[in-house]
Amino acid sequence: MRPLIYDLDLAELEAELTALGQPGFRAKQIWVAIYQKLKTSPEEITTLPKPLREALAERYSFQALEPVKRIESADGLTVKDLFRLHDGFPVEAVLMYYEERRTLCISSQSGCAIGCSFCATGQMGFKRHLTSGEIVAQVLYYARLLAETEQRITNVVVMGMGEPFLNFDNTMSALDRLNHPEGFGLGARRLTVSTVGIVPGIIKFADAETQYNLAISLHTVDNEFRSSLIPVNRKYSVEEILNACRYYIQKTSRRITFEYALIDNINDSTKDADALVRKIRGMMCHVNLIPLNPTTGYSGQPTQADKVQKFSEVLEANGIPCTVRLRRGIEIGAGCGQLAAEELSNFD
Ligand code: SF4
Repeated sequence: MRPLIYDLDLAELEAELTALGQPGFRAKQIWVAIYQKLKTSPEEITTLPKPLREALAERYSFQALEPVKRIESADGLTVKDLFRLHDGFPVEAVLMYYEERRTLCISSQSGCAIGCSFCATGQMGFKRHLTSGEIVAQVLYYARLLAETEQRITNVVVMGMGEPFLNFDNTMSALDRLNHPEGFGLGARRLTVSTVGIVPGIIKFADAETQYNLAISLHTVDNEFRSSLIPVNRKYSVEEILNACRYYIQKTSRRITFEYALIDNINDSTKDADALVRKIRGMMCHVNLIPLNPTTGYSGQPTQADKVQKFSEVLEANGIPCTVRLRRGIEIGAGCGQLAAEELSNFD
């Protein structure tokens, strides 16, 4: 198996090319070709001398993902793909069209060890970490798709399969490649990492002092209930997570986003909203309220619109900004891992 070209950062690629007797500028030329001009093979990089193109083809793989299945929502505004990695493991990504935005939700792992009860990926279990190149390759795949109609990806969220802070280094390397001016060149504030609350990861992320956004999948501030939804809450309680979030805000002066999936009659009362307010009031934050994406393995149902409205009013009355997010692509199983879970028997 040849190494994946997308796994190399610029310095590593420069070192490899120097070893091949190539001048230093070739690395940037290759990066521009693969990350900006979206070339898919060395043969297409005609700015390179032919012997170098042949050497690259011999040494590196340019193919990280094999598309297996695509489904689109009826309105065409959500597209989800299931890919196979080189060793057969599944990974998913979802593209959402929203007004001028083209937001791509990508995965950091195949499967997930966290085991959230409401999540199809959690129900599937952990397969393996993705390499940084496999994370980046999801973005390149959709960038090429959009380029066919002269569109571009505007935002990337690492919120698909997996817990990114359990694959911290590869996730950060991937973001750096996506953000690098000679790489994909997407602004740091258009890149978001979403975690269920792996406290050491939040601290490390804060200490990295990047401008990437941080989102926390909170869903409730009741520790007992949260532990039943997200088992790792037994290790990192709500209070510890919020303290780590305060550290992040203090360190970066960046606003944090809390994701709150509203589950009918479970965590969606005005009492639940009051409890949330008491915990996060005064923090530089924003709350995304998302009526639950139903999955086959979890019986919870999405909160109805009137209750969502009441919940949001409690937050706003207490000065906490919030947005009700559309549940996109429900009919195509666009909650993380749903498509892969359906198809997994093909991979095992
Ligand atoms: S919600 Fe995220 S962290 Fe939880 S099981 Fe699913 S993929 Fe893993």
